[in-house]
Amino acid sequence: MTNKELADLIFPDIDKDIKYYENKYQPRDLPEGAKVTRFAPSPTGYMHLGGFFQAIIDYVLAKNSNGLFYLRIEDTDTKREVKEAVDLIFESLNHYGIKPDEFEYNGEVTGNYGPYFQSERKEIYHTFIKYLIEIGRAYPCFCTKEELDELRKHQEERKFRTGYYGRYAKCRILPIEKQIEKIKNGEDYVIRFKSEGNFDLKFKTEDQVKGTLELSQNDEDFVIMKSSDKLPTYHFAHIVDDYLMKTTHVVRGEEWLSSLPKHLELFRAFGFKAPKYVHTPLLVKKDGNSIRKISKRKDPEASMSYYKDKGYPTEALIESLMTIINSNYEEWHTQNPDKKFYEFQYSPKKMSSAGGAFFDLDKLDNISRNVISKMTKDEVYDNLYKWADEYNKEFASIISKDVDYTKSILNIEREQKKPRKDYVYYSDIENQIWYMFPELFDKHEKVYEWGTINDINEIKNIVSTYFDKYYDNKDDKETWFNEVKELCDELGYASDMKAYKENPEDFKGSVADVSTVIRVAITTKSMTPDLYEILKLLSKEEIEKRINLIK
Ligand code: GLU
Repeated sequence: MTNKELADLIFPDIDKDIKYYENKYQPRDLPEGAKVTRFAPSPTGYMHLGGFFQAIIDYVLAKNSNGLFYLRIEDTDTKREVKEAVDLIFESLNHYGIKPDEFEYNGEVTGNYGPYFQSERKEIYHTFIKYLIEIGRAYPCFCTKEELDELRKHQEERKFRTGYYGRYAKCRILPIEKQIEKIKNGEDYVIRFKSEGNFDLKFKTEDQVKGTLELSQNDEDFVIMKSSDKLPTYHFAHIVDDYLMKTTHVVRGEEWLSSLPKHLELFRAFGFKAPKYVHTPLLVKKDGNSIRKISKRKDPEASMSYYKDKGYPTEALIESLMTIINSNYEEWHTQNPDKKFYEFQYSPKKMSSAGGAFFDLDKLDNISRNVISKMTKDEVYDNLYKWADEYNKEFASIISKDVDYTKSILNIEREQKKPRKDYVYYSDIENQIWYMFPELFDKHEKVYEWGTINDINEIKNIVSTYFDKYYDNKDDKETWFNEVKELCDELGYASDMKAYKENPEDFKGSVADVSTVIRVAITTKSMTPDLYEILKLLSKEEIEKRINLIK
């Protein structure tokens, strides 16, 4: 009996061969040097920041080289409903403007190298596995879970390397007749790769980030097809896919580095050229005095939804990840503020990899403050509205009642050389401008943050004198300020800070204290943007209403 008979018995319906697929998926028509990258997430229903980090690298590599970036859904492992999980992947990429050139979504396919869902590629995988069986490089294994547990225990007790290799790979020496007989008897089996490697021998390979690596050869007869659903394992599926979809660069987490020898041996068994590998460092954070991996279980910021929910501008998250990707990004970005992030020439070699890639939320907040401060009032309004429409409907309806009014508020100390940087994310804005909207002011709990002047009679005195005698909504800024000074002179406060500093005992306080009283009376807050602008924007009636609350 022959391998061919065994292969036919296992895959009776497979009538195509590798050549068929090689013909079907011709080399891509791309310019010299173009890189083909892919984002290949498993639809787990959770989008990790680390995955997005890799997707950005994929995207930048493709864009840098006039190449192509595609999305492949690795759903060979999920028993759960994948539809929602796939929606999440698409929405996450889409939110950041990262559009794959090829993908499959809601039944629509863009690109000629699909299917782009692994679960739809079963026939392809079976063809390739069938071939390996025919050439004697794969075989059925009938070991039960108990037998494998027993083997592991045996190896652990003796402190041997664990795994299905060498003399432990029992089924590899089963005669074909026996294999066929067992299959015909309906015994359960997986398909394993038949390794020709020797663990004691090393080989050299290049990683785009880590440089030259010296690794032990693989000698494990690892599983390439599972028994239950006859779907391939990750190790096998991605080899076939990356080959047929013409991937030139595989960007993935460094947790895959240890299985690289397996993957390279598979490529060799087929006689295919392996793609280049870009193994990215884990994202790490400071936790007290130690540095640890950002974890799904412990850190809300591990999830991509964290950033969207809070309303970080997409540019801010991208910028903070780009600075981790290559530390010279920041400088480049400052010099080329109008260029798109993907025009930056990414160099995998310059990516720091030892000890992980440090992701810092404080740094993101800083970047985000800057990004929002540089937006025009129209941009910040549009982004805020879009966020609020999804996450805070009531606020969305309030800010959109009089769009020009809201834009004027957002424009206080904006669109100027040194704009104010008080907003970190969109969800933070209501908290800082609620007092500018009468309906929010009315229902907000009011905690007046009085400063040095906190005697209520004196406060009333300042407020009434100012508003009865001086306040005029039409004043320009200079007049306004002069009037506040006059008010100070009238009430015994220093209108000149210098004079006050020289002889504080001559005054009840200074113009700064008096301004604070007016500011707090109107907004309840001791820290606000420019008071003149606030007084100018609020209507006369609204101001009166607020004054009466104090009087
Ligand atoms: N599906 C694998 C994962 O989610 C992809 C790894 C790869 O990009 O090859 O980790």
